[in-house]
Amino acid sequence: MNNKIGCLDLKGQHEQVKKEIFEAFEKVYEKTAFSGGPFVEEFEKKFAGYIGSNYAIGVSNGTIALHLAMLALGIKEGDEVIIPANTFIATAWGVSHANATPVFVDCDKDTWEIDATKIEAAITSKTKAVIGVHLYGQPFDVDAVKAICDKHNLFLVEDAAQAQGTRYKGKTVGVFGEMACYSFYPGKNLGACGEAGGLTTNNEAYVKKIQSLRNHGSTVRYYHDEIGYNYRMGGLEGASLSVKLNYLEGWNNRRREISKMYQKQITNPKIKMQQTPEWADGIYHLFVITTPEKELFVKHLDEHGISAAYHYPVPCHLQKAYAHLNYKAGDFPNAEYLAAHCVSLPMYAELTNEQVEIVIKAVNSF
Ligand SMILES: *Cc1c(COP(=O)(O)O)cnc(C)c1O
Repeated sequence: MNNKIGCLDLKGQHEQVKKEIFEAFEKVYEKTAFSGGPFVEEFEKKFAGYIGSNYAIGVSNGTIALHLAMLALGIKEGDEVIIPANTFIATAWGVSHANATPVFVDCDKDTWEIDATKIEAAITSKTKAVIGVHLYGQPFDVDAVKAICDKHNLFLVEDAAQAQGTRYKGKTVGVFGEMACYSFYPGKNLGACGEAGGLTTNNEAYVKKIQSLRNHGSTVRYYHDEIGYNYRMGGLEGASLSVKLNYLEGWNNRRREISKMYQKQITNPKIKMQQTPEWADGIYHLFVITTPEKELFVKHLDEHGISAAYHYPVPCHLQKAYAHLNYKAGDFPNAEYLAAHCVSLPMYAELTNEQVEIVIKAVNSF
């Protein structure tokens, strides 16, 4: 079918901003400011303002943001960091790249976010931090997780890669932990024209550390005080993000509208949706449902001209990459159920009401 409704389609979004972004690219060209520099700094200022944090730092992608957060906290070999078993694998990479060990905990069976009541049992004398993930753009229960971190003297880091603009109890996420990490991968709610990521924090010491680490361990050119990395954000990426940030609230609100249509009008008892507590104001990076017969359901959607996807089909603790940690099936039943039964419905701001209704009809006729 020609005009299939995609699970994600970036074309419409980029048509809207193409002219402005090309003008911004011209400015980058004129200054040949391709790596770091004024266009990245401009975006950092704008993004900190949007999130409501004192500082934002641009880096090359979201995985690196997580790695740098771990390094800035001094997390190293022998340390453990608690993360949800159901997240995109990069949350765990951040920990592993710092040579520390990710320790997984289950999610809540209804909200699908990290289950704060499971964290204490996973804490050992080696535990240094918890990375809470605002998964699918919904906030996790920050107060509950923070209370445990405070009690056990652990750092809290937010993985807000899917949550640029998500609100928890009325406040934009990204200000609750020591640091928050973002991905600006093109498919995220705020996505660069290229690969990019970032961090927000209120703590200047972290900013200094991360600025040095991302730039070869250097603050004065060709003087290297520590072993660093090349983790800078590109100028074209920064410029494209500054343009697109102006549109983010509008796009997020349209996603909220589409989700409301899904939530109200999908009535098929075989479909279960993510439960959202009254304090959650998500940005619906993904609209995930579960159904007992995932493959049949996706085939049914396909026959109705609709593409769907699985986010994510294998939970972190059962990935081959972590076989050496000796987790087994059955360790985290909620995360495993979700992985086995999740389907992502089409979700992006440019979906028309007509398209949303086609999806709803197809879902209800399954
Ligand atoms: C996308 C994502 C990341 C990684 O970001 P990249 O920019 O792709 O490296 C990390 N955590 C979560 C939850 C993500 O969705």
